[in-house]
Amino acid sequence: MNRVNQLFGIQYPIIQAGMIWCSGWELAAAVSNAGGLGIIGAGSMYPDILRDHIRKCKAATDKPFAVNVPLLYPDIDQHIQIIIEEKVPIVFTSAGSPKKWTPLFKSNGIKVVHVVASSLLALKCQEAGVDAIVAEGFEAGGHNGREETTTLCLIPAVRKAIAVPLIAAGGIGTGRAMLAAFALGAEGVQIGTRFVCTHESSAHINFKEKVASLKEGDTQLSMKKVVPVRLIKNDFFNAIHEAENRGAGVEELVQILGRARAKMGMYEGDMNEGELEIGQVAALIDGIKPAAEVVHEIVAEFEAAKAEMCNLSF
Ligand code: NDP
Repeated sequence: MNRVNQLFGIQYPIIQAGMIWCSGWELAAAVSNAGGLGIIGAGSMYPDILRDHIRKCKAATDKPFAVNVPLLYPDIDQHIQIIIEEKVPIVFTSAGSPKKWTPLFKSNGIKVVHVVASSLLALKCQEAGVDAIVAEGFEAGGHNGREETTTLCLIPAVRKAIAVPLIAAGGIGTGRAMLAAFALGAEGVQIGTRFVCTHESSAHINFKEKVASLKEGDTQLSMKKVVPVRLIKNDFFNAIHEAENRGAGVEELVQILGRARAKMGMYEGDMNEGELEIGQVAALIDGIKPAAEVVHEIVAEFEAAKAEMCNLSF
């Protein structure tokens, strides 16, 4: 038992990341039932859809689960109202300031965790009264920090800066990586990419298969002028990359991006023109499995690697 297990009331300090178009109630419930913490990704859900997912998740598990709310979501007030009304026990907020919503969640008895990519923001989260912090490094998929700090450098820096429980994210998809994160000072891990390649993920099968086929170097951080996001290199990525290289401004990049490209790719399965958000650790994934199997594999590999390290001497 460590502080993260205790805080959430879960068996393993393995948290499935909230991911647009990939993490609905089926994935969240499967991860929670397997002893981790499942998260519903609200960023791609209209308010009535979010309520439906929360209710289905409650029916599918009696274990704790959470909702991830990207704070730049257009109907944020409605999402927050639904989360409070439905008595969701834990909320992970991201992509915004923790100051505005944390007091409201806390006054409703909801535990709050905020996702950051720097020690400075981690300190602000602590001041805002969050219960825990996710520090997410450069390797991560989807929205990412501008400063490109890697998980290896970020976790010890945040550990030094804050006292609240720390969860590491970015580049973690195996038990070995989990152990490494713990060695750096984390008390839990948040894993997105590996859970995309599960039966319960709501991603399109084309996206799951694409992710499982990726090799080192197949993703890159893109669109720093708009919102930095790690993408698979496809036709859409190349169009953005070419525009960025010739110095295109925000307006042109936003025009190329258009609307609902993430849905087109990750949910509708267009692997050429869609926006495909995934982390570097995809290069280590080689198949699509049940989410429970992923949780158990990570735990077993963590224990084996820990035992191996115990025999180290110099
Ligand atoms: P776009 O503006 O390109 O498109 C909006 C998409 O979100 C559409 O596909 C739309 O579905 C869906 N959607 C869900 N609820 C709403 C709503 N209330 N109003 C408008 N659209 C809605 O945005 P993106 O697809 O790039 O991003 C969508 C959301 O996901 C944002 O909130 C963003 O912050 C979040 N996000 C989170 C990431 C993360 O790492 N956690 C990464 C990237 C984005 P439809 O087509 O059916 O209308």
